[in-house]
Amino acid sequence: SSFGHFGFDEALMGSVRKSEYSKPTPIQAQGVPIALSGRDMIGIAKTGSGKTAAFLWPLLIHIMDQRELQKGEGPIGLILAPTRELSQQIYHEAKRFGKVYNINVVCAYGGGSMWEQSKACQEGAEIVVATPGRLIDLVKKKVIDLQRVTYLVYDEADRMFDMGFEPQVRSIANHVRPDRQTLLFSATFRKRVEKLARDILADPVRVVQ
Ligand code: AMP
Repeated sequence: SSFGHFGFDEALMGSVRKSEYSKPTPIQAQGVPIALSGRDMIGIAKTGSGKTAAFLWPLLIHIMDQRELQKGEGPIGLILAPTRELSQQIYHEAKRFGKVYNINVVCAYGGGSMWEQSKACQEGAEIVVATPGRLIDLVKKKVIDLQRVTYLVYDEADRMFDMGFEPQVRSIANHVRPDRQTLLFSATFRKRVEKLARDILADPVRVVQ
């Protein structure tokens, strides 16, 4: 398998080539075509599998398709992660690959400056990477409007549960329009994650690393 099979445009292919990855990882080879097709997806994958790019590349293409159709305010892509470290890693990867399309990315995590994160959001973020508690704070303060979100990612869902974020995770899903595309990644697939997947995904395809 090679990156050529994904059908990325020249800009994104150039950016992937610059990363010097020789070929897609298994989760990318299986997951990218599913995400590009618009289907919901459950990815059972650990850190190190290349899962971040597996949901980011299709998101970038989704934004290029949607940014003209969906005028208005607020992010088109929303990525939830359990920790500051993980949200920052995802943010840096999104910036790196999103640069070719001039996609504006914002990272918002608990413990960081509310003022700085608010200012960044108000400059027009197309992708928001956030921890669940901080995202809800920013929504309550009307800094972030979720009505334009059509691509929703839960990364490391099992860890979000371990950290007690289940109520926030469910509340966010209820605030994003039902015709969205949802992707859920988890290292393990325990009962609670399975239940969450049943509640917030629509007819998902399951991919195991
Ligand atoms: P992740 O599992 O998303 O945290 O990615 C783990 C590491 O693998 C990151 O440093 C990525 O930059 C890197 N990576 C992602 N995709 C590939 C690939 N196709 N080939 C080699 N490395 C990759």
